[in-house]
Amino acid sequence: MPYVRWSYCSTAAQPPARLPASGCFISVLRSGSKRAQSAYRRFARRLCATAACGLVVIAALGSCAGAPDTLAHEKRALTGVVKKVKTSDRNIPKYFVLDEHGAPTVKAALWEEARGTETGLAEFEVRYDLAAATADHRGSFTVPFTVKRRAAGIETIEAVEARDVLVWTPPKAPQADGAGILLAFDDDYREVWARYFGFFDRYGAKVTFFVQGGFSDVRLFCAEALARGHDVGYHTLTHQNLTTVPEAVFFTETGAEVRAFRDNGVPLTSFAYPFGLSKAWMHRELLKSFTVLRGYGVTFRLYHRHAVRTGYISSKALDNILFKEDAAFEKEVRDSLLAAAFIGGAVVLPLTTHTISDTADWGITPGRLAYLFETAAGLGLRFYRYCDL
Ligand SMILES: [Zn+2]
Repeated sequence: MPYVRWSYCSTAAQPPARLPASGCFISVLRSGSKRAQSAYRRFARRLCATAACGLVVIAALGSCAGAPDTLAHEKRALTGVVKKVKTSDRNIPKYFVLDEHGAPTVKAALWEEARGTETGLAEFEVRYDLAAATADHRGSFTVPFTVKRRAAGIETIEAVEARDVLVWTPPKAPQADGAGILLAFDDDYREVWARYFGFFDRYGAKVTFFVQGGFSDVRLFCAEALARGHDVGYHTLTHQNLTTVPEAVFFTETGAEVRAFRDNGVPLTSFAYPFGLSKAWMHRELLKSFTVLRGYGVTFRLYHRHAVRTGYISSKALDNILFKEDAAFEKEVRDSLLAAAFIGGAVVLPLTTHTISDTADWGITPGRLAYLFETAAGLGLRFYRYCDL
């Protein structure tokens, strides 16, 4: 299953007489002469005809003595990187990107000594294929990964690449300052939420409720939520689209009642935009009063906890309307929770929904909520509230 694929690098004026048996053949043609180019063109046609090789790149890059030596050094560096990823992956800082299909992807960048390169270093990209990770009965994961030489200008010799697997064991329990989820419930479903207080307690789940309305409407709910260790943020007076109302309405919606909450022991450190909609000037105004502002969307994003302390974050919506089947919900949630746990450190995954119901479009089923809580517990993820940021 693991494989290592080398490119063939040629600095010769003539292509090799024999075709390589398989793999990716990349020829870096250093001399730009017409004769050499046409010889390589014929070679490329023969190579493609065999169908044993996936790709041929012929580039005339001018002279570059010593390239085969560099390639040997880069291969050695690649072997070093693969070994590090397999044996001491915990020490490698990782980052999160969305791939071309919008799926959460975890990567890392590593530098390794490689003589013959301009800086004496070769940069490699590690890509962890968490969607293909498999768990064993003890809770450890086998995670496939790919290491690729990162292209850096014309001196780079391409296609130095390896694929292998590592074994990763998530923490058994949430770590202090460790990775976690940031779950929020929006709007005015406080009677439903209150019925689930015991359910949250069973899983040790601490969440944030973004309430809407005047303080007197929600005072009892807020008191109980805070007493049970949850957080309360603000979601405006009447839930209008703030991007279309007159400025005076914006200030009433976002500010008129805030003082009443705070004077009565509800700190309201965070604010969620109705429908997730906002404009840049609103951030500036609201950050005078709140520590974190929240929008939402359909893509998963991860944030470094200490980097969102003052500012704006976008949260992934988990509502029933977005997931027709439980299986699709479970796959997306598992992959993104796995990414958060695997990156580790102070990474948070913001998630948002509304009511708790088997039938509502804008809400989450109790079964899906239980799946989310159980998966988070199995991966040793913490529950963060917005006031923890
Ligand atoms: Zn809302």
